[in-house]
Amino acid sequence: MSRITPAWLRAHPLPFPAADDDKSRRGTVLVVGGSAEVPGAVLLAGEGALRAGAGKLRMATVRSMAPHLAMAMPEALVMALEETGEGRIAPGAARALIPRLNACASLLIGPGLPGEGAEALVGALLGSLEPGRGLVLDAGGMSGLVGHPEALRPHAPRAVITPHAGEMAGLLGIPKEDVSADPLAAGRRAAQELGCVVAMKGAQTWVVAPEGQAMLCDHGHVGLATSGSGDTLAGIVAGLLARGTPVFEATAWAVWLHAEAGHRLARRIGPLGFLARELLAEVPAVMADLS
Ligand code: AMP
Ligand code: MG
Repeated sequence: MSRITPAWLRAHPLPFPAADDDKSRRGTVLVVGGSAEVPGAVLLAGEGALRAGAGKLRMATVRSMAPHLAMAMPEALVMALEETGEGRIAPGAARALIPRLNACASLLIGPGLPGEGAEALVGALLGSLEPGRGLVLDAGGMSGLVGHPEALRPHAPRAVITPHAGEMAGLLGIPKEDVSADPLAAGRRAAQELGCVVAMKGAQTWVVAPEGQAMLCDHGHVGLATSGSGDTLAGIVAGLLARGTPVFEATAWAVWLHAEAGHRLARRIGPLGFLARELLAEVPAVMADLS
C-alpha cells in the first residue's frame, strides 16, 4: 500500500511560476455554491484556492449573500445569482454564469450548496464547461451527479470528487456502513464508474485514480473533523488544479497540505477547537517546506 509522504510530494513537485509570470498564468478558480443558510462555505473554499497559489478567484453565490461575500473576500470577483424564496441558487441561475464559465482554469461546484435540487444547476454547468478545465465537485455538487453520472464524462480526465462516507454512500447507492467498512473499495468503484479522481475522506483519506492507483494519507489530525473543514480542502484542490498541477498529484498534495495544517494548528493552539478557516493561513508555509 502506498502512502502520501513528504518524500513522495517532493518527488512530484507543484508547478512553480517563473519570476515574471502574472496572475493569469497561475489560473482563475471559480467557486459556485452557497445558500442563505450556509453562505460561508464558498468563502472557505475560495480562500483555500488562493492560499494554494491560484492567481485569481471568482465566486458565484445567491444574490442576497453576494455583497457580504465580496466584502469578506476583497480579493475576489463575486457574481450574484438568481435565488429561490428559500435562499437557494435558482435552478435556472446557471444561464447567467455560462458566458464567464470558460474563463476559469478550474471550477469548484458545491460548497454550501444544498443537495436537493442541485441536478439542474450542476447539469447546466457541466454541459457548458469546455473540457480541459479542472473540476472539483464537493457536497451539493456531488448530489447533483446522482442519477446523471454521464454529465461528468467529458470532464472526467481533470475532475476530482471529495466525498465523506455519507456522500459516497449517496453516490453509490449503498449504506454508509458499507463505505466505512471498506473505504478503499468504495473509492475505487466511484473512480472507475465516474472516470475521475476520488478523495475518499475520513480519519484517513484515500486518493484513488480511475486507472487503479491509490494512495493513503494517514497524516490527518482529529481536529480536522470540524465544521467547514471539507470546504477548505475542496478549495485547495481547485487552487492546485488552476496552477496546472496534474489531477492525481493536485488531490494528493491538497489532502496532505490540509492534514499538515491541522497538525501545525494543534501544536500551536491546541488539538481541539481550531477553526476550519484557520487552516488556510497555514497552507503557504506547508507548501514552501515541501518545495
Ligand atoms: P467534511 O466532512 O466535508 O467537512 O470533511 C471533513 C474533513 O476532515 C475531511 O478532510 C476528512 O478527511 C477530515 N477528517 C474527518 N474526521 C477526521 C479524523 N477523525 N481525523 C482526521 N481527519 C478527519
Ligand atoms: Mg463537506
